[in-house]
Amino acid sequence: MLWSVLGTSVHTMFERHQPEGHIVEERLFAEVDGWSISGAIDLQRSEADGTMTIMDYKCTSVWSVIHGKVEWHKQLNFYAWLAEQKDGVKVIGLQIIAVLRDWQRAKSKIETNYPLAPIVIVDVPLWPAEERDRYVRQRVKIHQEAEYERLTGGHIPRCSDEEQWKRADTFAVKKRGNKRALRVFDSMAEAETFAGEAAEREIEERRGKRVRCEDNWCRVAQWCEQYENEAWS
Ligand code: SF4
Repeated sequence: MLWSVLGTSVHTMFERHQPEGHIVEERLFAEVDGWSISGAIDLQRSEADGTMTIMDYKCTSVWSVIHGKVEWHKQLNFYAWLAEQKDGVKVIGLQIIAVLRDWQRAKSKIETNYPLAPIVIVDVPLWPAEERDRYVRQRVKIHQEAEYERLTGGHIPRCSDEEQWKRADTFAVKKRGNKRALRVFDSMAEAETFAGEAAEREIEERRGKRVRCEDNWCRVAQWCEQYENEAWS
């Protein structure tokens, strides 16, 4: 639970030191197709003309900032949709304030694209209003259909690989007896080609994982049949 607790602590620390003119940790509600939905927005910076920038704190890895995360885009665009349900609000920007738990100063000096500080602001693309609206209604529809299936004894849709934050298996070619891999591949065939006939090389299968399910990120994991029953494939 360390990273989860660390994330909560960082949120709490920032909440206590909010900049002037910002709304901190506000939960907003809206009605969609008869359902009430809500989201708690970490930080909103409002301008006098009614425009607003929405920010979200993340305690995350350098990798996430370099490669970006589609979940961040979805979350913040949902917040933009939610904020604009209030009269006169227009969202003009979305940002992640990322605290990088594995940042290394030495790498920041030599690697291109590496963040220059352990805290960085990442701009998130703001989707057009129609796309945000379509996304929110689609998500509500998916949940409503799942609820209908649950109530009628049908099949609740399974979480996708993306939703499980699934990391695939990898295949490491190592010098026999060494811990470090010479190279890591996505398939056994590639690893075998690289290892060749060399007797001193061995291949280690490294099992991937469903990070959200297995690492305590999903709050319903303890009741989830998919997580319990799903054979790793
Ligand atoms: S524990 Fe179940 S509900 Fe949660 S992400 Fe994994 S498969 Fe989905």
